[in-house]
Amino acid sequence: MDKIILKPGREKSLLRRHPWVFSGAIARVDGSPRAGDTVRIVAQDGRFLALGAYNPKSQISARVWDWHVDTHIEAGFFRKRVAAAMQMREALIDTEAGGAVRLIHGESDGLPGLIADRYGDVVVMQISSAGCHRWRDAITAALDELTVARALYERSDADVLELEGLERRIGVLRGTLEPPQVEIRENGARFKVDVARGHKTGFYLDQRDNRHFVGKLAAGRDVLNCFCYTGAFTVHTLMNDAKSVASVDSSADALQLAQEHVRMNGLHENRCEWIEADVFQLLRKLRDQGRQFDLIILDPPKFAPTSATAERAARGYKDINLLAFKLLRPGGLLATFSCSGGVSADLFRKIVAGAALDAGADARMIGQFHAAPDHPVALAFPEGEYLKGLLCRVG
Ligand code: SAH
Repeated sequence: MDKIILKPGREKSLLRRHPWVFSGAIARVDGSPRAGDTVRIVAQDGRFLALGAYNPKSQISARVWDWHVDTHIEAGFFRKRVAAAMQMREALIDTEAGGAVRLIHGESDGLPGLIADRYGDVVVMQISSAGCHRWRDAITAALDELTVARALYERSDADVLELEGLERRIGVLRGTLEPPQVEIRENGARFKVDVARGHKTGFYLDQRDNRHFVGKLAAGRDVLNCFCYTGAFTVHTLMNDAKSVASVDSSADALQLAQEHVRMNGLHENRCEWIEADVFQLLRKLRDQGRQFDLIILDPPKFAPTSATAERAARGYKDINLLAFKLLRPGGLLATFSCSGGVSADLFRKIVAGAALDAGADARMIGQFHAAPDHPVALAFPEGEYLKGLLCRVG
């Protein structure tokens, strides 16, 4: 088997079981491995560290499959990993009929670069690493066999594919799916997920528990739901008898589906206001109009994928949070999120604290949010903890 030999001292992160080898950590490569090939990763002194998938095109030159020298990286290995990930979810989440759940969450499930989401009886898989690309057939077969899905769909079109030197792949792998919209249930609500054209694999499953929690705070309140996508927070606040909900997104398609979601859940359409706008501009307009709300939700897209872009992202978060604090009535609540891997929970809290200070708001934190438990975070892989949020109350 081909080998990559690390520079002196660069074995430290692997000894802590962090699953990535950056190109700068490699002293030399023995053999001529191609993208996706399994390699042995060894320290400068020849000590075995891990087995991983090689990718010469990526900054992350190898992603670890396993830490044991005698593990065989073959179809059976993938079947076992997929089965283990699914078993963990069964014990954690009481999936309702037609429920949606993330079955495989990449590195944190020991399958770097692989996402699989179940939407009712349809499973959507997303590959974004050379290693999983190489083992696509084995992974597809395992998902097909173990999930017993009506259809298996591939959405390998994440932005990171380019960085990995991989091609986009979209389409049905097994079964049939026409039209590509699947109905799911989430804590009593019904949603349609467009697995072909929706964001990510179609829906933001990581916010499931947070939508449930925030929804329960909405009774009798005037709600502003910013970056609403297909209105999942909107539906949960209306289900809990919100007085009014203004939902904002820059995507007309997302807003259209959001409106359909309100209708199909039999909720009060006359309590809804739909605003197609840029949130940064809209919040200023609402401030100038003197509008006020009792519950504001800020769930923006990723401003900083990596820590290199954290500073610019910090300005974006500060801006929207500051404006949101100004739009809250006394006793109002702000549920504010960041899904930027490059912004730590600690930094996010500091940004929100700075925003409250500059807005002149007397705010306290009364809750913290994370991704739902079907999005585990391997303790050795802090990058996995991308979604964080705070619930603040203004005095
Ligand atoms: N809260 C949603 C997920 C939000 S995803 C849920 O629970 O499902 C982020 C959304 O922000 C996307 O729908 C995207 O269209 C929208 N968006 C991105 N930039 C925006 C901007 N500047 N103004 C308004 N919406 C924006």
